[in-house]
Amino acid sequence: MSAQHEAGVTTTHRVVVLGAGYAGLSAAIQLASRVKRSENVQVTLVNAQERFTERLRLHMTATGQRLAELNIPELLEGTSARFVRGWVTAVDADAKTVRIDDERVLPYDTLVYGLGGVADTATVPGVEDHAYTLNSAQDAEVLADRLARLGGGTVVVAGSGLTGVESAAEIAERHPELNVVLLGRREPGAAMNPKAKAYLRSALDRLGVRVRSGVEVAKVLPGAVELVGGETVPADTVLWTSGTRVSPLAASAGLTVDEHGRVVTDATLRSVSHSEVYAVGDAAAIHQGYGVMHGTCQGGMPTGVHAALSIVRALKGKQPKPFRFGYYHTPVSLGRHDAVVQFTRPDDSPRRLYLTGRVAARYKETVTASPWPTWGRMKKMPASGAFWPRGGRFTQVRDAR
Ligand SMILES: Cc1cc2nc3c(=O)[nH]c(=O)nc-3n(C[C@H](O)[C@H](O)[C@H](O)COP(=O)(O)OP(=O)(O)OC[C@H]3O[C@@H](n4cnc5c(N)ncnc54)[C@H](O)[C@@H]3O)c2cc1C
Repeated sequence: MSAQHEAGVTTTHRVVVLGAGYAGLSAAIQLASRVKRSENVQVTLVNAQERFTERLRLHMTATGQRLAELNIPELLEGTSARFVRGWVTAVDADAKTVRIDDERVLPYDTLVYGLGGVADTATVPGVEDHAYTLNSAQDAEVLADRLARLGGGTVVVAGSGLTGVESAAEIAERHPELNVVLLGRREPGAAMNPKAKAYLRSALDRLGVRVRSGVEVAKVLPGAVELVGGETVPADTVLWTSGTRVSPLAASAGLTVDEHGRVVTDATLRSVSHSEVYAVGDAAAIHQGYGVMHGTCQGGMPTGVHAALSIVRALKGKQPKPFRFGYYHTPVSLGRHDAVVQFTRPDDSPRRLYLTGRVAARYKETVTASPWPTWGRMKKMPASGAFWPRGGRFTQVRDAR
């Protein structure tokens, strides 16, 4: 691997990875386990907390279930990566620096941008002030506290996407004393095949979740949500799971972003405007033959691994390869003992095959628990992290970029 030489002096190539979520951790571990200290590549991973946030389990946190303490610096032990705890406040893409907590400045030669995304609390009036979210572990804990103290009444889960469905089911199962209303524009499980969707709906009915689809929230008020059309739904607590918002840092730095603020990448996951910046996970707008990838862990981890492999290739003077990914499943928990797993085509359209019940719940738990051991394996055998479905013919037609 070539180190940079300036006036005969060997310099270190500094890779800074922003965000230790599913994508950023995959990038940092894959890269750190492929480069050795002697190769003059320094990998720095920056994240808001030392504890890994299992976003896939935040609905469990929100219902008072204790999760394992997964410590990121401990995971990185034995690799060449160093961990910096802090909140990223700015990226200067010209000076190639990252500002942390407004005090520290980290220079980089290559940046991996993986700050994720959260539910959009800014668009609908009242959400910021009156709704709870699962946007961070702390937010989920605050909701858990609220639900534990309610003792009765109505919880409205706004947003009928999969996070909304999983949350409504979990709350209904853990808090039978509460009325749970799930409302949103689309039917729950809308993207599933009709039988899987019907199963999901019957499970919500069994748990006592009242579903209102085809509705849109106009406003969240203290003690209610107001729907477009004027109807008011009383709510002692509102959980907001709808929409997606990403950090404004990329746009502020002058990186090309899409209408949602996600970093637009080329086929190799580099920013189309700044080739020394790779974007991964929910924070990236990644084009595949079937369209722009939507935020998932199943796709996010491969983007991180691929960015690391691209960086290794670039450091060796080789061209990074195009990223290809095809979806294969949509696992949805329905409380702790039930689930639906919809198997999909690479473009995420549903196949006929699906699982339900305890088998599906075990499948979902296996998938949810798998990232941490996967990273442990990757430290010793980097190649073990580089297997994912490439999507076959669905990803062969690529954006000209
Ligand atoms: C309840 C729930 C259930 C889900 N279930 C599934 C599922 O079953 N399957 C699936 O594929 N996907 C699921 N998802 C979606 C999945 O969690 C995301 O797609 C995934 O977390 C994206 O990974 P990421 O690494 O891009 O971002 P994240 O995992 O969000 O990681 C981003 C990291 O960056 C940190 N960060 C952000 N901003 C800053 C900053 N300014 N400074 C420092 N650090 C910062 C965050 O703290 C976080 O650690 C679920 C999401 C939720 C909320």
